[in-house]
Amino acid sequence: MLHQCAREVVRELGGRFPQSSEALQSLPGIGRYTAAAIASIAFAEPVAVVDGNVERVLQRVTGAQLTSSETWNQAEKFLSHSRPGDFNQAMMELGATVCTPRQPGCGVCPVRRWCVTQGEEVESKNASPRQAKKEIWCALDWRDGQVRLVRRPVNGSLMAGMWELPQFLPKASEAIVAGPSYWRKFRHSITVTDYTVHVARQAAPGVKGKWVAIETIPDIPITGLARKILKASGII
Ligand code: SF4
Repeated sequence: MLHQCAREVVRELGGRFPQSSEALQSLPGIGRYTAAAIASIAFAEPVAVVDGNVERVLQRVTGAQLTSSETWNQAEKFLSHSRPGDFNQAMMELGATVCTPRQPGCGVCPVRRWCVTQGEEVESKNASPRQAKKEIWCALDWRDGQVRLVRRPVNGSLMAGMWELPQFLPKASEAIVAGPSYWRKFRHSITVTDYTVHVARQAAPGVKGKWVAIETIPDIPITGLARKILKASGII
């Protein structure tokens, strides 16, 4: 990227390095953060820098759950227009050396008097949501070159209209796990949920489904979980 950037400056810009954060972002390898850092530190442009350290400081100082764009806006509001380069470096350094992730040094912090949280954690809106855990049971029922599948509701919010293995609620799960029809379990994650998927080689009690010819499966939309199970079983 550095080499590409240098070539572009020479070829396209007559060897003149851009001096504004906006122009810098047109170069290879330079995004918003790098452009703001160069423009403010090297050329004194009043533009704020946000990296992970600055983001943490801002969340703690304001005590607000800031989205990514709100964090950038907040950094712009705090920015010193007379010394933007020094301000940005100070913010990054504050996050790296004082307002550290695990043990913020609030006792020696130069911005303590303005800090709303003073070390109490604020959950970031950018943080990944915690994964929920669920257990489901699938019936792997096949014979004569066909496998029984069910279609998800066409107006559902997730994988609408796709085909999957029938699911069922076992009356006595321990007995099924110990029984001859139990095959194996899979781990599978969909959006914010981690599933433990038990698969039994049997019909799903109370689920009719549809017998689908195995050779036609490549032509129909099936869920990732169904594909995973059918592949593992050697059916497709
Ligand atoms: S007072 Fe504590 S939490 Fe607030 S910015 Fe300083 S080190 Fe971080």
